[in-house]
Amino acid sequence: MSGPILPGQTVGVLGSGQLGRMFAIAARRMGYRVHTLSPDSDTPTGQVADVEVSAAYDDLDAVRRFAQSVDVVTFEFENVLSATAAAAAEWVPVRPSGEVLHITQHRLREKTFLASKGFPVTPFAHVLNADELRAALDKFGCPAVLKTAGWGYDGKGQVKIASHDQAASAWQQLNGSEAVLEAFVDFEQECSVVAARGVDGAVVDFGVVTNRHANHILDVTIAPGLVSPKVASEAIAIAHAVLETLDVVGVLCVEFFVSRDQRLMINELAPRPHNSGHFSFDASVTSQFEQQLRAICGLPLGSTELLRPAAMANLLGDGWSQGEPDWAAACALPNVKLHLYGKAEARPGRKMGHLTALADTPQAAEQMVVEARRRAFRL
Ligand code: AMP
Repeated sequence: MSGPILPGQTVGVLGSGQLGRMFAIAARRMGYRVHTLSPDSDTPTGQVADVEVSAAYDDLDAVRRFAQSVDVVTFEFENVLSATAAAAAEWVPVRPSGEVLHITQHRLREKTFLASKGFPVTPFAHVLNADELRAALDKFGCPAVLKTAGWGYDGKGQVKIASHDQAASAWQQLNGSEAVLEAFVDFEQECSVVAARGVDGAVVDFGVVTNRHANHILDVTIAPGLVSPKVASEAIAIAHAVLETLDVVGVLCVEFFVSRDQRLMINELAPRPHNSGHFSFDASVTSQFEQQLRAICGLPLGSTELLRPAAMANLLGDGWSQGEPDWAAACALPNVKLHLYGKAEARPGRKMGHLTALADTPQAAEQMVVEARRRAFRL
């Protein structure tokens, strides 16, 4: 194995959103050069990278040229095509590997993989037509959730089915694409574990955090999570095992449902830093972004110690409905940190930034971050 990729060398990021931006900030702080490739320009990542390449992901010649200009390639969203990862891998290591991408970018493959390895997942069925949907609904009962098998995120490509007579319209809403039907889980809460695995196989985690969603999009994360020690240790053990089983080099997030009888079910995996790990930027010795950098560069992983309880609140574009939010009002709370992603257009549901609050307890941090957002959005 060759040695580590060191400061002064160049990391390449496929994708150009906020995850790439925060990764690039961490990488540049440590003296690395950052190149990013995506179809867009003046992107959240491109604004802080050394070099921004605008090219389609299926422009494999552009991807190869990009790979030749860097020392390692990673990605900041999982919907990068397998062929794109493979073209980059002709030149430099791609971490996590194209195989990890291939499994985690497709709900059905991911769930089938997890179930085959004995991990607990939400009951699911593969659905290819309206008849199969009806049969699966008979098996699971209602309510249930129909999801596209590929290319879904933040609740996109999902339809909740309340009763059998909604089956046909639900199927139509997904435009006849290959789908997965899941039993609807009446969960007590959602939680997640962000973990990282190094080139040497060492695994570290950022602990369990509690996630509150609104309209299927993450709204608030609370660290440490409000779960029992038993649930916490089980979730952490599952997360470590997932990274090892998938042979991940990099960061991966495992999202869970916690049932009312305290059982964990994996909802989904994200093979990259995750929105529920953003608190680590301000509240942990090493952020999830620096950890991704260390992992893909073959450096030792850093401490994930949480310096103080923290909470993160997303700033969605909806908050811009009355014009630019009042940032001074949010910043007037001294233990609140503002992160904005440099996106020009605030659309409803679009992640524009986030706030992190640090406090003596996770509950106090949650209260503070929600209050800061309320003030910013003049609610
Ligand atoms: P996903 O994109 O699959 O992570 O779904 C987004 C959000 O929708 C989840 O975080 C849950 O809040 C909700 N959701 C998704 N699937 C289910 C399910 N099977 N049962 C209950 N809620 C769900």
